Amino acid sequence: MPNSVFIYPGTFDPITLGHVDIARRAADLCESLIVAVAEAHHKRTVFSVPERVDMVKKALAELPNVQVMSFGGLLVDFARKVGARAVVRGLRAVSDFEYEFQMAWMNRRLCPMLETVFLMPSEEYAFLSSSLVKEIAALGGDVSSMVPPCVAKRLVEALRGETGSIGG
Ligand code: ADP
Repeated sequence: MPNSVFIYPGTFDPITLGHVDIARRAADLCESLIVAVAEAHHKRTVFSVPERVDMVKKALAELPNVQVMSFGGLLVDFARKVGARAVVRGLRAVSDFEYEFQMAWMNRRLCPMLETVFLMPSEEYAFLSSSLVKEIAALGGDVSSMVPPCVAKRLVEALRGETGSIGG
C-alpha cells in the first residue's frame, strides 16, 4: 500500500490482550501503526491519559512499527494531522457492529479519503472488554490472563477500595 500509516484509536482504559491482538494484526498490515489514546472526556476513566499511554507503550513495546500518541477532539482531524490512510477498529461480536458502523459512516462523511478497517481478534479474546476487566478486578478476580502484566498490577492498585460504578 503506497501510504500506509494506520491509526488504531480507543480509550484503552486499560489496554487488554484483545487490544494487543488487534494492534499486532494491524501492525502486520501497514508500514506504521499509530495507537491513538483518546482523551475520552465523554467517559469517566479509571486511568489518566498519561497512565493509559504508558501502559499501551509497555504492552506493545515489542512491535517495531508502532507508535503511541494521545489525542483530543475529532479523530478525523488527528488522522489528517498524522497523514493516516485508515482507521483500525476491532469487532468482537454483532453487538459492536451497530456503533462501529455508525462511527465509520460518520468518519467517512467528515473525511472521505480515510478508510475504516475492521479486524477480528483471536477467539479467546472475543469476550474481553476493558469494562468487564475493571469490574472483575474491582471484585477481586484474577485478570492476569486478560491483560498485559503491567496492567494487571496497576488495575489492582487503582481499583483497591473502589466501589462506585465503572465506566468504559
Ligand atoms: P472506544 O472507547 O473507542 O470504544 P476501546 O478502548 O473500548 O475504545 O476500544 C477500542 C477499539 O478496540 C474498539 O474498536 C473496540 O471494539 C476494540 N476492542 C476492544 N476490546 C477488544 C477485544 N477484546 N477484541 C477486539 N477488539 C476489541
